[in-house]
Amino acid sequence: MAEYTPVPEFAKGPDIPDSGYLVTELGGGAYGISSGMVNTMFLVTKRGVVVVDAPPDLDERLLAGIEEVTSNPITHLIYSHAHADHIGSAHLLVRNGLKIIAHEATAEFIQESHDDHRPLPNETFSGTRTELKIDGELLVLEYKGDWHQPGNLFIHLPEQRILTAIDSFTVKNAPFFRLLFAPHVPAYFTAMDDMLEYDFDTVVSGHMSLFGTPEDVATNREYIQDLRTSAAEALGEVDLRQAAADAGVPSDNRQAQLKVWMDAVVARAAEHMPESWDQRLGGNDIFLADNLNAVAWSVFID
Ligand SMILES: [Zn+2]
Repeated sequence: MAEYTPVPEFAKGPDIPDSGYLVTELGGGAYGISSGMVNTMFLVTKRGVVVVDAPPDLDERLLAGIEEVTSNPITHLIYSHAHADHIGSAHLLVRNGLKIIAHEATAEFIQESHDDHRPLPNETFSGTRTELKIDGELLVLEYKGDWHQPGNLFIHLPEQRILTAIDSFTVKNAPFFRLLFAPHVPAYFTAMDDMLEYDFDTVVSGHMSLFGTPEDVATNREYIQDLRTSAAEALGEVDLRQAAADAGVPSDNRQAQLKVWMDAVVARAAEHMPESWDQRLGGNDIFLADNLNAVAWSVFID
């Protein structure tokens, strides 16, 4: 088996009970809920419940978690974005009168997916912003760029001082894989700045069991800036043809040359990364090469 750096205690989060879920009070009627692998939040209003997403890794346990704190019916479901790992159990929430709200770009993705576990939203908005007033509670939905998937939302609850930004980063941990599959890396960098413009105390970011703070967003921003600095340095040092010749790649195999070169850039960039990140974030060893690959290509082509 591969050897991994032990996960630091601060990055682990609370244990998940045998029920398979953990509900965390976030204040002002808002609650976080986690399966350990995936998390989301819901808001209990006077007459109902507003839920963000319905992840399959929580499945029916999302309903059990909500019932643990209220007998109010689920009146609104907001899709943060269209990915199946976050909304693929939405069919379990469907009942008469349920409002499913999303950006119209998210609705288009769902339409194309032909997945009956992801019912189409019945209320969409276009543009960059909409405000929902539900039972006196304010939720601000903003689409500020394609940092994860077209249609992805920041969901701000100003009164509760909560920012829900699903798949923006991983609290106390390095980003999964290639900056959580950011389709446009510069937009991912901008998203961290945008998040820090909001007034909030708690951020709900979609994976693992921890809910974060503005400091956690700032830490992720510092981490990705270090990725970019290290990648830029390595790109200046590693020559494509030299790297290919050193690795014995035949001169007529240009695809192998490219692959060997980028692998060498990533390896060199990893040497430039401050070693302290292993103590500051969990999973740095696991995702460093993937993240550096995404950032190095972006520095090279964007
Ligand atoms: Zn996603």
